[in-house]
Amino acid sequence: MSAADTPDQLALFGAEAAVVVRRSARARRLSLRVFPHGLVEVVAPQRAAERSIYRFVSDHQAWIQRARREFGASPQARMVDPPAEIGLAAVGEAWVVAYGEGTRRLRAVPGADGGSIRLTGPADPVWRVQQLRRWLQQRGRAVLEPWLAQVAFETGLAYRGVTVRRQRSRWGSCSARHDISLNCALLFLEPALVRHVLVHELAHTRHLNHGPAFWRLVGRLAPDFEAAERELRAAWRSVPAWVNHDPM
Ligand SMILES: [Zn+2]
Repeated sequence: MSAADTPDQLALFGAEAAVVVRRSARARRLSLRVFPHGLVEVVAPQRAAERSIYRFVSDHQAWIQRARREFGASPQARMVDPPAEIGLAAVGEAWVVAYGEGTRRLRAVPGADGGSIRLTGPADPVWRVQQLRRWLQQRGRAVLEPWLAQVAFETGLAYRGVTVRRQRSRWGSCSARHDISLNCALLFLEPALVRHVLVHELAHTRHLNHGPAFWRLVGRLAPDFEAAERELRAAWRSVPAWVNHDPM
């Protein structure tokens, strides 16, 4: 998906506190909110200049830092701790995670509807979430690559290659050369929504824009596409904080 579908993301505060800009037709002025896991959202009128958004955010740095600290002191901040369980709605899997000290190693043992992960190494929460993100990316490859191939087969839309990465601002993208990139965080979404993203990206192999012909094609392949696109904009909330935010 391109910037037209998803919020722009500005890396104003480094990796741990992304600022998402959401443009709204109803907004009359710039406003700010901070989500419990530290994500900062700027709501901007449709025509606000990028420059004035940057200025607005930097003028409110102190307020943002204070709000984030307040959340940091609340129980919700624990959401950024390394997880005890990883639920992958896309494939109906629950993985139980156990931590220990010792040799650096992540061992994932599949079981019924998920499995168990044993992670040993330094008792450093940042290191731990980094290892789990790597595992998530591998799981994403194992799940999403064949899934995309299947949907391509069903829809008759061919792509060239696929990569699965962890991205903060896009569920997927498609290049002019028909290489598709998918976000491993798709694993946290419901299967119907994942399928919609796959259809959306495959449709870009025919139309590299979001013009009427593109939406006609998507509508033909996925009749519920408007609801799905709406749901996708809010679906970032289904992604656990540790996937994109380091423990503080
Ligand atoms: Zn798109």
